[in-house]
Amino acid sequence: MRVVFIGPPGAGKGTQSQRLLRYLNVPHISTGDILRDAIRRGTAEGFAAERYMNAGNLVPDPIIIDLVGQRLDQPDCAAGCLLDGFPRTTGQAEALDAYLNGRGIPLDGVLELRVNEEILIQRLASRARVDDDPNVIRQRFVNYRERTEPLLDYYRERGLLATINGMGSPDEVFDRIRAALQEFARTTASRKASRTSG
Ligand code: AMP
Repeated sequence: MRVVFIGPPGAGKGTQSQRLLRYLNVPHISTGDILRDAIRRGTAEGFAAERYMNAGNLVPDPIIIDLVGQRLDQPDCAAGCLLDGFPRTTGQAEALDAYLNGRGIPLDGVLELRVNEEILIQRLASRARVDDDPNVIRQRFVNYRERTEPLLDYYRERGLLATINGMGSPDEVFDRIRAALQEFARTTASRKASRTSG
């Protein structure tokens, strides 16, 4: 199964993606992790990305699209993957569509994890990442609202979006995610059936 996971900083995406990975048994493609790893290894992409990340800004699309394309080309992604934190802009979503359409592989669905903003700020205040400084957090929210939220409409129009209520215990949230995945599987199956019969 191929699933995109979208949510604002602090929504609990990290916790839920660990569960999702175990449940789906697919590779985890987290652009944040890929970028942090590139910085640690001192690669050219890492060098180019670091100043954007430290300021809470999005890394430019061409860098991200290239990194994700390389990762999706790896054989372990053939049966599916969890895309976590990608796409984050309409440009990235279009690039992903082009990649998948070019290879005839479907995206099964997009999970949006939604949590009220005050809770998000409280949760972030208790983490200790370089980009969790209050000003940087604010910037990351602005980017989410301005650049990532428009994607939700993009996927809603394509019938791929499931909005998950992210409030409650991790188990409660994961139950909602599991229900959405079952719905994705049904939708993919019926899309496939209508393609073969039409
Ligand atoms: P994350 O770990 O997903 O919260 O990402 C941490 C930071 O990496 C973000 O604040 C961005 O600076 C950068 N980043 C991660 N994924 C993307 C993406 N898809 N597009 C642009 N920047 C990204």
